[in-house]
Amino acid sequence: MRIRCAVAALAAAVAMVGPCSAHAQTVDPGPRLMNDPAVRAALNDVQLNEPAAIEEQVRLCEIPAPPFMETARAQAYADAFRRVGLRNVRIDKTGNVLGERPGRAARPNLVLSAHLDTVFPAETNVTVTRKGPVLRGPGIGDDCRGLAVLLAVVRALDAAKVQTGGSITFVGTVGEEGLGDLRGVKALVNDTLKGQVDRFVSVDGTGYGITHISVGSLRYRVTFAGPGGHSYGAFGIANPVHALGRAIAGLADIRPPAEPRTTFNVGRIGGGTSVNSISADAWMEVDMRSANPAALRDLDGKFHAAVDAALAAENARWDQKGRLTVTKMLVGDRPAGAVAAASDIVQRAVSVTRALGLPIELAEGSTDANAPMSLNIPAITVDAGGSGTGAHTLDETFDTTDSWRGTQRTLLIAIALSE
Ligand SMILES: [Zn+2]
Repeated sequence: MRIRCAVAALAAAVAMVGPCSAHAQTVDPGPRLMNDPAVRAALNDVQLNEPAAIEEQVRLCEIPAPPFMETARAQAYADAFRRVGLRNVRIDKTGNVLGERPGRAARPNLVLSAHLDTVFPAETNVTVTRKGPVLRGPGIGDDCRGLAVLLAVVRALDAAKVQTGGSITFVGTVGEEGLGDLRGVKALVNDTLKGQVDRFVSVDGTGYGITHISVGSLRYRVTFAGPGGHSYGAFGIANPVHALGRAIAGLADIRPPAEPRTTFNVGRIGGGTSVNSISADAWMEVDMRSANPAALRDLDGKFHAAVDAALAAENARWDQKGRLTVTKMLVGDRPAGAVAAASDIVQRAVSVTRALGLPIELAEGSTDANAPMSLNIPAITVDAGGSGTGAHTLDETFDTTDSWRGTQRTLLIAIALSE
């Protein structure tokens, strides 16, 4: 999921030509690629075949891919990888789909990925409807768009016989969303392709942003537990629901810094037996985020203190009768990180975006790029074109107007980053 929050677009433009650039020579492959006849042919192919890419987007999106249940879509995606001619197509043991397009050399190896999973439960109706240029359906932009764009890029590279310098490994990842906790991409960079990823680009969502700052997150499931009992008969013992209320009140009073942006949220609560029972348990799910690792650690400390204080206060209130316990289970841990706006990978992406006359929008987010970034692998996440609304809702839309421009941009990024 992307959190759009444009930062420093101007600073990046200055960095391209300024003296503080990371490289003595600016990296600006855009104009050169635009003059290459094979690349131009591939760009043409992309525009001509965008209707087919959109068909593919709809087809893949109508295959349910709930969290932890991405198998059916993964199989279909592997079939699509074979159909467009990728080599060594396989599904790794975590469920990621991989396929290779060799270049003149094996390295650098660019991973170009999109995520297979959605946030929607299995019973969700995933039928896609159309009204004029607008598609409507859960996941249609996030990230069926990215899945379809990857396939269109392979087809265009082959149709125009573009030979890239290094090779490209195309990947459909599992577990990008929510409690999936990036398990697909973590396994990809730590195991399946360990030591073989030189650059990483996730193609995710709609628009034209370039995400180079990874917002880290910590997520917990907190459970207060005790003996419980009758609301009248057992009155006088500690109450897990009351303790949960104290904990939420404590969290709500935390004041994290506005800069670096650091946030927290109690997203779900539950527990209890009936209106006339002292519950035996009560739980909440908490999400905390920051692009700054130190700020996130600091907030994490305050979270633990608030929960521990709530437990102590509830037990003290009832003189330790029906004494409660609390467990704080870490259910999400996404590393924070960043690649500089002046870095080679960002400059190349900016260069081809500018060459296509598209806006330069540098952004931060929590995406598959977090994992490679935390291993110091140059990584970004790029939007896949078109425009969208309502990501993570049943009413998600994708406007296909000029969406081929996003496919073109991804194609150029693939070429510029595999040389
Ligand atoms: Zn996404």
